[in-house]
Amino acid sequence: MASSLFKTLIRSSSSNSPSAARNFCLVSAQVSNHTAKWMQDRSKKSPMELINEVPPIKVEGRIVACEGDSNPALGHPIEFICLDLPEPAVCKYCGLRYVQEHHH
Ligand SMILES: [Zn+2]
Repeated sequence: MASSLFKTLIRSSSSNSPSAARNFCLVSAQVSNHTAKWMQDRSKKSPMELINEVPPIKVEGRIVACEGDSNPALGHPIEFICLDLPEPAVCKYCGLRYVQEHHH
């Protein structure tokens, strides 16, 4: 849904409408400023470095349902992750890693 909105914005900005293009750039600048501020507030490490310090979560079974946090208000839409691959699977929302725990 978000990506289709993005495509609509790109289409309107390329259709000979300079004002629409300028508005779109303004929104992007606000988003990146906000992100930079958020990163300064937390620590010197990037979010990707922080999440890489979290060890992969061992899960019994082939599928894990990730919600980002046990509190739904802090998490993300439920994401079902398949753990068939030997390497850890990464949640596309929160970056948490999961590995299948084998009992053999
Ligand atoms: Zn997640």
